[in-house]
Amino acid sequence: MTTILWLRRDLRRGHHPALTAAAAGDQPVLPLFVIDPDLWQRCGPVRRGWLAATVRATDPAYDGRLCLRIGDPAEVVPRIADEVGATAVHVTGESTPRGTRRDRVVRDRLRSEGIQWVVTGSPYAVTPGTVRNQSGGPYQVFGAFARAWHLKLTAPGDTVGADWHHWVDAASDPAAAAMLDRAVEDCPVALPEAGEHAAELRWRAFLRDGLDGYADNRDRPDLAGTSHLSPWLKVGAIHPARLLAELAGHHGTGADRLVDELVWREFYADVLHHHPDSAWHDLRPTLGTLPYDEGGDALTAWQTGHTGYPIVDAGMRQLAETGWMHGRVRMLTASFLTKDLHVWWPVGARFFLQHLIDADIASNNHGWQWVAGTGTDPAPYFRVFNPVTQAKRFDPQGDYVRRWIPELAHLDGPRVHEPWRAADGYAHGYPARIVDHAAERREALARYNAARGRH
Ligand code: FAD
Repeated sequence: MTTILWLRRDLRRGHHPALTAAAAGDQPVLPLFVIDPDLWQRCGPVRRGWLAATVRATDPAYDGRLCLRIGDPAEVVPRIADEVGATAVHVTGESTPRGTRRDRVVRDRLRSEGIQWVVTGSPYAVTPGTVRNQSGGPYQVFGAFARAWHLKLTAPGDTVGADWHHWVDAASDPAAAAMLDRAVEDCPVALPEAGEHAAELRWRAFLRDGLDGYADNRDRPDLAGTSHLSPWLKVGAIHPARLLAELAGHHGTGADRLVDELVWREFYADVLHHHPDSAWHDLRPTLGTLPYDEGGDALTAWQTGHTGYPIVDAGMRQLAETGWMHGRVRMLTASFLTKDLHVWWPVGARFFLQHLIDADIASNNHGWQWVAGTGTDPAPYFRVFNPVTQAKRFDPQGDYVRRWIPELAHLDGPRVHEPWRAADGYAHGYPARIVDHAAERREALARYNAARGRH
């Protein structure tokens, strides 16, 4: 008799409650990863490359026994369970709309064949859906959620994962291994080192060099002021419960602020759990009648980093070249698309999901909704980020912009944020502004006020 551990967003060995649960039965365990061609196709090449590199890096941690298969999990998982004579399939819980639907189908098929489906933990410190208000419903705003979330947080339990070596041998599908290799080769950006060990090193380095200054530096794209852990958190190479347990031993504004940011991740997952439609539809219907523009050439200029607004273009080029973008600049680029170009947020959210290495439907799509004024923020419609004043504030010497926009490298200091004021600002081919921010801000506010009036 054997047990299967089906890995998905939990690609690690340490602090792995589902592995601990699988091993508790004292039966040999088959660690399994399934490439779902439908999902694989939908991921952009960056996300595919990162996932493939992570699976590769995870295999040695499972003593080289990670079994790779391709196909619809609803077919593949029951088939391999039958092949190895498994009596149970263990997973880490999933709460995205797609993951939940898939798991329901797999669970029902397994159960119909008398195989147990065991869910332990989730990719979050507090499983989405657990935090409830006094009437048993979900929280709508971050502050109230965060207070209740803290009461639910428990210390991570002991895990036997690291000491377990009792595996089942099952041959990997050579086509699956080839698909992973191809995804890594075809990845258009230089990937950071994947896997649990790399995540651990990054975390240690951040605790040593970044945590104390985090509260002050986190909004500065010109500094390496944030943890940069989002790609590893996304694939579960490191679990937030571990980070939070360690942060509990640190005092100061840096640790407090980082806890807050991790709680935003938990909050958005919780919102998506309760409102699966909010993945692609406005969470709040108040702006349902807001008129949007198609985008056209302006959308292309935004996507390629040629809007003529340096901080926006620097962000979009950082995204294209590395697959990652600084958080403050994610807000500024999203604000520019939705408020200056009047494009509906899902257009931008889809583009980000295609290009971000840490692409995550809950954090991304609710980050977009927050900026667009359709999401969890109670009063955001008047917040239209000014790309010039924001740039001067958060990239005070212009180093971030010069790093990503070679056509502006000749402008020193903060002059780089306003090439239109420099006699030689456009000497190296940087494009003129495609819109006038002040005029588009007025237009955005007029549209928003009219839509709210109609509601
Ligand atoms: P740090 O500042 O070091 O924070 C540590 C961790 O906290 C992050 O890794 C992340 O897991 C979490 N976190 C921080 N800020 C947020 C936030 N605002 N919302 C949710 N979680 C947060 N994050 C993603 O992981 N995937 C995405 O696809 C994504 N898309 C975004 C799109 C938009 C429009 C916006 C405004 C934000 C988006 N974020 C997304 C959130 C945030 O920008 C990134 O998590 C953060 O910039 C990653 O860098 P870091 O790991 O250095 O963050």
